[in-house]
Amino acid sequence: SLAIKKHVMCLMSDTGGGHRASAQALKDGFEIMFGDSFAIHVVDLWSSSSPWPLCNMPKSYFFLVKNPWLWRLSFRCSEPEILHEALFTGYTALVGRRFAKAFHENEPSLIVSVHPLMQHVPLKVLARMKAESSFVAARVPFTTVVTDLTRCHRTWFHRHVDKCFVATQLVAAQAMSYGLVANQLACHGLPIRPAFNAESLPKVELRRLLQLDLTASTVMLVGGGEGMGKLEATAEALSQTLSPGHQIVVICGRNEKLARTLAARTWPLKMVIKGFVNNMSEYMSACDCIITKAGPGTIAEALICGLPILLNGFIPCQEEGNVSFVLENGVGAFSEDPVEISQIISRWFKSDGIELNSMSSKAKSLGRPEATFNIVRDLAGMSTTY
Ligand code: UDP
Repeated sequence: SLAIKKHVMCLMSDTGGGHRASAQALKDGFEIMFGDSFAIHVVDLWSSSSPWPLCNMPKSYFFLVKNPWLWRLSFRCSEPEILHEALFTGYTALVGRRFAKAFHENEPSLIVSVHPLMQHVPLKVLARMKAESSFVAARVPFTTVVTDLTRCHRTWFHRHVDKCFVATQLVAAQAMSYGLVANQLACHGLPIRPAFNAESLPKVELRRLLQLDLTASTVMLVGGGEGMGKLEATAEALSQTLSPGHQIVVICGRNEKLARTLAARTWPLKMVIKGFVNNMSEYMSACDCIITKAGPGTIAEALICGLPILLNGFIPCQEEGNVSFVLENGVGAFSEDPVEISQIISRWFKSDGIELNSMSSKAKSLGRPEATFNIVRDLAGMSTTY
């Protein structure tokens, strides 16, 4: 018989690479496990279905995050339930109709939110649609996939979701403190791209493929999808401190300007400079350690690849807990100072690999390479048939 294609609506917002990457990971996971029996629609309802000024929210996020005290202020002020409830009721009045229209058009068998601001308003809209019995989708299962590793904003958690997928026990405990119950929760890990679950080639093969030096101790430097942070100063300090036999791989992400600037210089050691790469799992598996800001995606990926992690910065509140996570688990270090960072890496490379190896095996044991597939399997099992 003809297979019925089920539609899954994935609610996200383009604030930081992480949410889009998680949505993409789930989409890829569905495709690999279920071929075309599912169609995943990733929608950014804030940008595509909201009137001004809400459609500008993703942009204001970037503004806020670059001004840490402002971000801290908005993060903390929006946590009390009474405040965000009032805000969300207001938003619902503004955007309700458009959200409802989007639900009608997509006719989903399942809704998956991968964004902290995509629980309350969509659920309010769905509840209203249900009351008006205007729409079958009103009884569609609603799920949240939390894409933070440690301290999560309260709006991630809504008591009326059918399932909430979390990455760590720490987040599960937070969810329960906000009133979710154990059988609403599943803890599989962060949804990362399926490539990270594939058996990786031996390091030396990968290096050959990526045209890296085959034997040099190699550090990777990244700043999230946007190439944020002190990448240039850090590259500079590393090149001064490491020995000429070492190697640095800088991944600039979408920061093309930085990639051009770095590529135009001459360096005293082997330096590989890249813009946005799509084969992050290969680069990670080819290197010996990583310097990155405390982004959850990059940390989860580095753990899977067994990479010791030197964190060089964090977004206030939501990434702060990731620093303690890395330190407490003994998988890396933290420093914001480029000179100190280069000294730490130099020490790691000098200690005959003992320190690096020990952190690397701890990292591997924390990694959850199968997270995406376990989440997708659960999600598929929850989807309704009409
Ligand atoms: N990334 C990538 N190619 C690049 C740079 C980054 O695929 O050139 C990916 C990286 O592997 C990770 C994501 O972008 O999955 C960044 O997510 P993270 O949560 O670390 O930080 P964000 O950019 O969301 O703040």
